[in-house]
Amino acid sequence: MAQYSGQPIFILPEGALRTTGRDAQRNNIMAAKAVAETVRTTLGPRGMDKMLVDDLGDIVITNDGATIVEEMNVEHPAAKMVVEVAKTQDDEVGDGTTTAVILTGELLANAEKLLDQGIHSSVIARGYRMASAKAQEFLQEIGRKISLDDRKLLTEIAITAMTGKGAETSKELLSELSVKAIQQITEKEGDKLVADLDNVKVEKKEGGSIADSELIQGVIVDKERVHPGMPKRVENAKITLLDAAIEIKETETDAKIQVTDPSQLQAFITQEENMLKSMVDSVANSGANVVFCQKGIDDLAQHFFSKAGIFAVRRVKKSDMEKLAKATSASIVTNLKDLSKKDLGFAKLVEEKKVSGEAMTFVSGCRNPKSVSLLVRGGTEHVVEEVERAVNDALGGVAAAVEVGLIVPGGGAPEVEVAKRLREFAESVGGREQLAIGAFADALEVVPRTLAESAGLDAIDILVELRAKHDRGDVNAGVLVLEGGVGDMWKRGIVEPLKIKTQAVKSASEASEMILRIDDVIASSKPRGGMPGMPPGGMGGMGGEMPEM
Ligand code: ADP
Ligand code: MG
Repeated sequence: MAQYSGQPIFILPEGALRTTGRDAQRNNIMAAKAVAETVRTTLGPRGMDKMLVDDLGDIVITNDGATIVEEMNVEHPAAKMVVEVAKTQDDEVGDGTTTAVILTGELLANAEKLLDQGIHSSVIARGYRMASAKAQEFLQEIGRKISLDDRKLLTEIAITAMTGKGAETSKELLSELSVKAIQQITEKEGDKLVADLDNVKVEKKEGGSIADSELIQGVIVDKERVHPGMPKRVENAKITLLDAAIEIKETETDAKIQVTDPSQLQAFITQEENMLKSMVDSVANSGANVVFCQKGIDDLAQHFFSKAGIFAVRRVKKSDMEKLAKATSASIVTNLKDLSKKDLGFAKLVEEKKVSGEAMTFVSGCRNPKSVSLLVRGGTEHVVEEVERAVNDALGGVAAAVEVGLIVPGGGAPEVEVAKRLREFAESVGGREQLAIGAFADALEVVPRTLAESAGLDAIDILVELRAKHDRGDVNAGVLVLEGGVGDMWKRGIVEPLKIKTQAVKSASEASEMILRIDDVIASSKPRGGMPGMPPGGMGGMGGEMPEM
């Protein structure tokens, strides 16, 4: 507290909280570890699920790390940084979120032990940065090449991503669909392969069973045709994508039209009709028999379309329009006057079908579509939602494998191998950083340890056996979660994309370094629930607000 002529000067608002030094560090580490602890039991094929209930009573049952930490609504700023790790992992790879979170927690837990031994946090952070960079190199070395047409290996990746999720009973079908979808939408850009997940639309509908899920070579639009008189099924569809209303514009100013004689009114109405008719005609004249309109379609125009035998859908989402364009090779037309034959797209079949009592439009049989849809089914709402998350993990895993072109064994094998190489590297570094690098290596082994625990195996025995195998050069030795014991992951087809590992290590180490470097937490107002260990009342003496985290 600053003082001037005996007058205390307050810079922080009343009620502001501040913790500094070791207290701040301990609080942050504790909070981050707490987040990691919650997801720990969900890791791997024998991982458990969490049931999350929000303040409205809505329930989510999931095994997915990113979903869990997000739904928890954590408020502690350091805990939020761990949530960010999961989100980044989800955005960048789409799988490996639990791994990333528990790795962050373990890095911080091991850092805490070093802090206890009197090692400065900046030394630990530096050691972690060195270890993380080296780990990236080692991971690259372990990676094996995979190509886009290696169906078998890609399917194994999809299955590994889905094991332990609610979708497991139908993992053969779902992994096959996921691999087909990614293979279909992957495009070559220069000498790189790009598998943009935005081009796979996962449409979920409860009802039926998981086995009824299917891949559509095209797009499912969650809308019905606008008029019952229109055909329900159009074969060899020629498709117009329209980003313009088929309506008469209202005048912008309040215009009054004085009608003095009934024939004038009739003429006025006829003119409106003619305008709508000519709009519909320009669609029909282009040769189109299906219209997807992003805007509205006037009732009368609907009638004209119906008479012309054209299938029309209105108010289609912009994202769906883009997908339709990619799938059917149609161009989106913004002005009806510009519409011509070359703008049309093609699909073998456009059909309105009822799925669980709800009409949806299926645009299927597109020629080499660069956008596809996966219809996910499942008995109840909670089941479909969890199947959807599992499918998203599979799609993300396969896409990451295709784009990077490298894969690694699963079951904790790469973690043990990288840990081993990091320990050798640490010796060459020496000094106090050596200890930090060693701590980083130990933290990586949280993956096989947790996998072993989840399978009811003795984690210490498993780790000892794994280390021994890796020392003998068995790079692929990992935890056999399902059978129990230690074995070769490649031989059993337990493989994962390299990117899951590189991204998890990168985000986890960055987040833990950042948390370690914080020695002062200034909260301008008391967060709800409070921060553990905060001194009551707070302190004055510094201005500014809590930094955004
Ligand atoms: P994450 O959110 O990190 O992907 P998961 O619950 O999907 O968490 O678990 C992933 C871990 O489980 C990875 O380390 C993966 O290698 C491992 N794993 C998946 N299937 C198997 C299996 N059949 N045997 C052993 N380990 C497996
Ligand atoms: Mg996973």
